[in-house]
Amino acid sequence: MKYFFYVIVLLLASCKSIPAPATSEGVGEIMNFLASDELEGREAGTKGIALAADYIETLFKEYKVKPYFKTFRDTLSNFDSSAAYNMVGFIEGTDKHLKNEFIILGAHYDHIGRIKPKNGDAIANGANDNASGTTMVLELARYFGTAKTNKRSIIFALFSAEEKGLLGSKHLAKKLKDNGLNLYTMLNFEMIGVPLQNKDYLMYLTGYELSNIAAVSNAYSDKKIAGFLPKAKEFNLFNRSDNAPFHEVYNVPSHTYSTFDFTNFEHYHQVGDEAAAMDFSHMANLVNELIPVMEGIINAPEQEIKYN
Ligand SMILES: [Zn+2]
Repeated sequence: MKYFFYVIVLLLASCKSIPAPATSEGVGEIMNFLASDELEGREAGTKGIALAADYIETLFKEYKVKPYFKTFRDTLSNFDSSAAYNMVGFIEGTDKHLKNEFIILGAHYDHIGRIKPKNGDAIANGANDNASGTTMVLELARYFGTAKTNKRSIIFALFSAEEKGLLGSKHLAKKLKDNGLNLYTMLNFEMIGVPLQNKDYLMYLTGYELSNIAAVSNAYSDKKIAGFLPKAKEFNLFNRSDNAPFHEVYNVPSHTYSTFDFTNFEHYHQVGDEAAAMDFSHMANLVNELIPVMEGIINAPEQEIKYN
């Protein structure tokens, strides 16, 4: 009986810091807000995206993520609007040496706003592009904010003005480099709201052939989580999202994970890119599959992702 009591106490103590797994309901709640008509397509510098930023701030605080700068808002120096800002959160590493090395988990939270109406709908909601990547980063923030298992420090970077030419990530990469931030790797998420079809991997990586990132990712998963999509190379997706400025400024492994393969989603940059077209259980599954991968990368004693 006494033994039983101790087991229960131990179980309770260890459960306390284990975050609940991602669920389709939880993912759906974030997605439904970020892609709602109220946010009017989250164009950089508009009122709609400011609502998204307020919401992200609320979640960061709830998840015990701290601002990396004075506030969560990192106003762009390269865009003609004081209302364009990245949202930048931070969780310090727990290891006294490794915490000086940083990993950025990123996604752009802006989209293209209002466009030419189709059947009376003029709002490009940007659910897949890129409320989905934003949700992934927020879910990872929720996990690490509660678990506090990260030996290296993590920056959660939600970029503005990606759709204006990667402006948010260009601004932040330069600013962090100028501040002397020691970046190990930048891992970005784009368009992960709909599963790949007929592939033997869950996500593809842009710049697959440039580093060992896919092999490292797969080594931490019991699934083949990352693979090579020939179209990603053909269309040079490596240079078309927010990983690219970090590659350019830092020349450290910087990649985007995605599940958009040009055949599984027909609403790219159209009014039909809505939350209702997303697969929330696929997204929750991706979050849960990625957590051990991120944890492995963040806590490895040596930096193991390397450019070839
Ligand atoms: Zn995008």
